[in-house]
Amino acid sequence: MTTSPKVLIAGAGPVGLTLANELARHGVSVRIVDKAGERTDKSKALVMWSRTLELFDDAGYVDKFLPAGMVAHGAQISTGKEVVARISFDSLDSRYPYALMIPQSETERVLEEQLAARGVTVERLVELSGFDEEGDKVDAAIKKANGETETVSADWLIGCDGAHSTVRHGLGFAFEGSTQQSDWVLADGYLSGLEPKDRIHIFWHRDGILAFFPIGSERWRVVADLGPVTSEARHTDQTLAEVQALLTQRGSPGITMSDPVWLAAFRINERKVKDYRRGRVFLAGDAAHIHSPAGGQGMNTGMQDAFNLAWKLKMVIAGTAKSSLLDSYSVERSAIGEIVLRNAGRMTDAAILRNPIAQGLRNAVVKFAAGFPILQHAVADQLSELKLAYPMSPLTAKNDHASHAGHGPKPGMRWPDRLPGDAAGRTFTALGPKDVVTALAEKFPKLVMPVSADDPAHAGALRLIRPDGYVGFVGSGADQEHAESYLAGISA
Ligand SMILES: Cc1cc2nc3c(=O)[nH]c(=O)nc-3n(C[C@H](O)[C@H](O)[C@H](O)COP(=O)(O)OP(=O)(O)OC[C@H]3O[C@@H](n4cnc5c(N)ncnc54)[C@H](O)[C@@H]3O)c2cc1C
Repeated sequence: MTTSPKVLIAGAGPVGLTLANELARHGVSVRIVDKAGERTDKSKALVMWSRTLELFDDAGYVDKFLPAGMVAHGAQISTGKEVVARISFDSLDSRYPYALMIPQSETERVLEEQLAARGVTVERLVELSGFDEEGDKVDAAIKKANGETETVSADWLIGCDGAHSTVRHGLGFAFEGSTQQSDWVLADGYLSGLEPKDRIHIFWHRDGILAFFPIGSERWRVVADLGPVTSEARHTDQTLAEVQALLTQRGSPGITMSDPVWLAAFRINERKVKDYRRGRVFLAGDAAHIHSPAGGQGMNTGMQDAFNLAWKLKMVIAGTAKSSLLDSYSVERSAIGEIVLRNAGRMTDAAILRNPIAQGLRNAVVKFAAGFPILQHAVADQLSELKLAYPMSPLTAKNDHASHAGHGPKPGMRWPDRLPGDAAGRTFTALGPKDVVTALAEKFPKLVMPVSADDPAHAGALRLIRPDGYVGFVGSGADQEHAESYLAGISA
């Protein structure tokens, strides 16, 4: 294949595959290459959170993931002697009030099959080795397994090529942050003796954390910290007997592991680039941010990078929006990356406390806080990524009209309902009084789909909802002119 696509994606992990699907769904020509011969067979990122599920729902293919995973209804933290906190996901304000536990191997399978159904095949054993930005093109050098090389001339290059990203190196971007000085072990296998099975279990033992994540049918992921690093050399992968010793020592009695699928040692990196873009080259996913697996945010955040970028690229490529629309990608996603990194770091720091006094204090504070439903909800909201918003984005209308629009999400916040209309051609949704939204759609036919607000909860309000389900503008029915200037700022 020697075609020149509009967009070249380097890396077919979950983020590259999500982006390729989203671009293909929007009708953008895309090539996606991966240096690996096969997609991962490991469970790696195990949790798909509510916000990610909503985005796949709006995109029209969440139903492909649901049968491949299992529902987790909550998490509980115990010391081995007593449960100090229970967090329920059931009351999350979402169409998907749970964590979908789905191995990354399955997530990638679903995404790759969905992509193939759209006519795009992942080009495997094909490595991006470098690139040059020349005028309005990016010339990317790719190397195939048989030694052949090719220059792909694309309008845009997106680096979804993971933590060691060639694209990030090519941009010369610093990956600022650090490697945590503690060793961790991961074991994926079959367990008996742990109940209930529809929860994440975390044990805060005085010797360290032991966490269990259900994968389904008695299969669980176990993660434990082994304490401060003792040498620069990576810890060797654990044996089943060593993992079992940790389960016996730190978990509740009777938990037994058998038939391990994957045993590995790892260290935690917390790193991020400042900018996610230079010119015609973008970064998304682990290429831009990596952090502790605590809270299972890495893949989810990367996939949400992809959802954020796809519709903007589509509108700019189609000539519907000004190219400045793309400036908002780095501003929005870098801010989210910082929040996610910080939260994951805090969760990890709390989990690996070694000092017995600090441990006692942590347990007492968490037990006390967990007695307040509002604090439990706050933790569930943070994990689910439902409350992440873009208050400082250039795409978020800075006006005081929102105060006249009654209840409901403010500019920059997530729109909680399923987006109406055809996923393939989705534009901004103008939701409000019929005459106003019709007039907006007449003035900006390629940018706006009108929906009259029948729901009394939103009566009188005028909202412009972005194609990725975030509110851009809020006003009342009298704010048509302001909504027009918002759209004029985007329209090409
Ligand atoms: C043990 C573990 C547990 C985790 N648990 C969770 C969790 O529960 N929840 C969560 O959200 N996240 C979790 N993560 C993180 C998650 O796995 C990553 O965030 C996710 O895989 C990132 O996806 P990505 O597509 O950005 O990168 P990757 O999955 O790393 O994919 C990058 C792809 O790019 C390819 N590539 C690299 N260089 C090139 C090149 N030059 N040319 C072409 N192709 C290239 C690679 O072969 C690879 O296929 C976990 C990670 C680990 C290691």
